[in-house]
Amino acid sequence: MTALRPGSPTMSPRNRMRIICRFYRNFHGAQCKNSRTLKAAHVTVAFLLFTASLNAALSPLAPPPDWSKLDAFQETITRQDFVALLDKVYAPAGVWKETIAVQDDMAIITTRPDGPPFLLRFARTRDTAKSIPAYWRGRAQLPAEEPGKPLTGLRIALDPGHIGGYWAKMEERWFQIGDASPVAEGDMTLAVAEILAPRLEDLGAQVFLTRRKPTPSTSLSPGQLESAAIASLTDKGTSADEENLRKESERLFYRVAEIRRRAKRINETIRPDVVICLHFNAEPWGDATKPQLVSQNHLHFLIAGALSGQELAYEDQRYDMLVKLLNRSFLEELALTNVISSKMGAATGLPPYFYRTGTAIRVNANPYVWARNLLANRLFVCPVIYIEPYVMNSRFVFARILAGDYKGRRNFGGAMRKSVYREYADAVADGVVEYYSRRSL
Ligand SMILES: [Zn+2]
Repeated sequence: MTALRPGSPTMSPRNRMRIICRFYRNFHGAQCKNSRTLKAAHVTVAFLLFTASLNAALSPLAPPPDWSKLDAFQETITRQDFVALLDKVYAPAGVWKETIAVQDDMAIITTRPDGPPFLLRFARTRDTAKSIPAYWRGRAQLPAEEPGKPLTGLRIALDPGHIGGYWAKMEERWFQIGDASPVAEGDMTLAVAEILAPRLEDLGAQVFLTRRKPTPSTSLSPGQLESAAIASLTDKGTSADEENLRKESERLFYRVAEIRRRAKRINETIRPDVVICLHFNAEPWGDATKPQLVSQNHLHFLIAGALSGQELAYEDQRYDMLVKLLNRSFLEELALTNVISSKMGAATGLPPYFYRTGTAIRVNANPYVWARNLLANRLFVCPVIYIEPYVMNSRFVFARILAGDYKGRRNFGGAMRKSVYREYADAVADGVVEYYSRRSL
């Protein structure tokens, strides 16, 4: 992400200390005065004073979080599990320590600069932990299957990545080789969703699509986002010249406003048990007017996590991360991703992608699975399966894309293959069925 917004308001250290001490006493009660816990709190004050200037900003178009909603997670997680999830999934390399202080019995979490910290009490043991509030159900909580319907009762949202159609060029998810038909990722993801949805419904699931057409879900337009774009460019330390302003307004439209709109619908209206985000990948194709085909081709899956210290300094990203961490969607995400990645690796024959940048981390021994902080996997509060198969501008995949969708199999490079859309949809459906049909495990 980006540098913090310069000139953002921060409160005076003295006021901050006053608020922290008062809040801490109220929280713990008078009996804790002079206790080891209270002394520890004063050590923590130093930490919070240090971090007071780090947390002034919100990400573009992010509403200020309502921290009181995290109260529902009091005493639902042990200290050990909380720290392990931060270290191994959500905020590796200790970056969380700049905004979260962990004591024996609680975490002290920096909220906004003019507010008190949020205090999260730990459960003493896993056995005594209170139940986790989550609207979505893991596979063990689903109703019994009906005969021949292994997905009975499951609510699945399919999120065909990007917008496609007219917007594909603006999204930079569009290329054309010579006179061949243009390739638009947003149209391809929708094609996969249209094959996958009825398959899952036939298996007993309730399926919802975040879009059914190549049109935006957000009602905002790039022109309405200019002032947000200026703030965002300032935040990044980039000049708001005409070209930068146009590009940033467009990016806020097709990526940020669009995904925030989809997340609102998923979290508040659809409320599925799982979201499956459908994407295709690409390698750099060079000059957009003469895009290049490449030889690389690969597959990977993304799980929410791996926030950087700079990303965690944004109040909204810190809050979103804690919601995901505390509702334990990670466990369901990882288990389901493991099964789907095995099916998809076998069906496509694609090797795992390997991140050489620090933006993603491995979370288990599965080479296809990475944790990475994306708006679309962070904002959807339920478990999210985020799939990045096929390099669209690889020679092999490009030939298959040009062939379009078809029934049966055709010869590509000496092997008989389904259409790239059906191979994708079938592998996902097979993985979902295998995972959810073992509900008693
Ligand atoms: Zn994509």
